[in-house]
Amino acid sequence: MLGTDVSDLTTTAADAASQGLSIVIPLYNEGAGLTSLHERLNGLASTLRQRFGLACELVYVDDGSRDNTLAIARTLQADALDVQVVSLSRNFGKEAALMAGLDHARRGAVLFMDGDGQHPPALVEQLVSHWIKDGYDVVYTAKAHRDNEPFLRRVAVRGFYSLINWGARQKIPEDAGDFRLLSPRAVAALRQLPERNRFFKGLASWIGFRQIRVDYEPAARAHGVTTFNVTSLLGLSIEGLTSFSVAPLRFASLLGILLASGAFLFGLSILWETFTTGKSVPGYPSLMVGLMTIGGVQLIMIGIMGEYIGKILSELKARPIYFVAEHSEKRAKLEARSD
Ligand code: UDP
Ligand code: MG
Repeated sequence: MLGTDVSDLTTTAADAASQGLSIVIPLYNEGAGLTSLHERLNGLASTLRQRFGLACELVYVDDGSRDNTLAIARTLQADALDVQVVSLSRNFGKEAALMAGLDHARRGAVLFMDGDGQHPPALVEQLVSHWIKDGYDVVYTAKAHRDNEPFLRRVAVRGFYSLINWGARQKIPEDAGDFRLLSPRAVAALRQLPERNRFFKGLASWIGFRQIRVDYEPAARAHGVTTFNVTSLLGLSIEGLTSFSVAPLRFASLLGILLASGAFLFGLSILWETFTTGKSVPGYPSLMVGLMTIGGVQLIMIGIMGEYIGKILSELKARPIYFVAEHSEKRAKLEARSD
């Protein structure tokens, strides 16, 4: 069998809840807000237990933070929910941290959320309800609007999604974030994907199942600044595009065809002009423009191919995606436990 059957993880609402929920939180220099986030999540866990009979676990992944994140994470108490702290050997990036969290999650369903307070814990109840009550497998969130973002950035985002979704069977929803909940069978599916260059949003959408979108208003960062600036976002986009879709290569072929046809037509028109008027066409400027266009386009296309070859190389080396330097866990206090 070349596909994977995860249907035995299909469950009724009651079963779903009994498998519990792991909340995966990547942390990079989030020491300043971690204690308050943890308190809010503890409160959330109690609510989830009362409302859905859901047992929760927290998986904090310290992605090689340079501040006191790890020291604080170690001291966090497991009151209403189990707490795991996974510390990576260096900063591997958010995608790797999410993967580490996914690998360590022990409960059935998994919720991914940022550690900077931008993903409102208050929304989690709604996400869980879509999973348990309505039976959705992937509950993803999207920014309700981008009105506060610069115009150019919005254009870039639009361009990125139209390119990555070009010709794709399963479209990646525009504006969807990493704040999402996966049901046990969706988690099982995601765990089957072996690639090292991971683009989480893309993979979580690619697996299929019943998906639903929830719009939300992202909060301001609780402290500090975002680790993603224009350069790293550009890097992430190239990473996402080339690890997830072959659209850029198709684009290259298409551009090649267009340029070649243009050149062919241009050639015909020159011939036509020479035969009808008998004049020789002065060619230097058009020659230069043509040369430079073709040279530039070729370099860009070689660059694009280089990106893909780099991906092939890193898949081929098959290095681990991350290393765990330290792992600790605390079990929730007994009176709060349901299992
Ligand atoms: N993060 C991480 N490793 C990194 C960069 C970020 O684990 O190398 C975490 C960070 O701690 C936060 C989440 O990823 O919990 C999102 O990061 P950030 O808020 O900087 O990104 P933005 O919200 O601007 O997309
Ligand atoms: Mg953030």
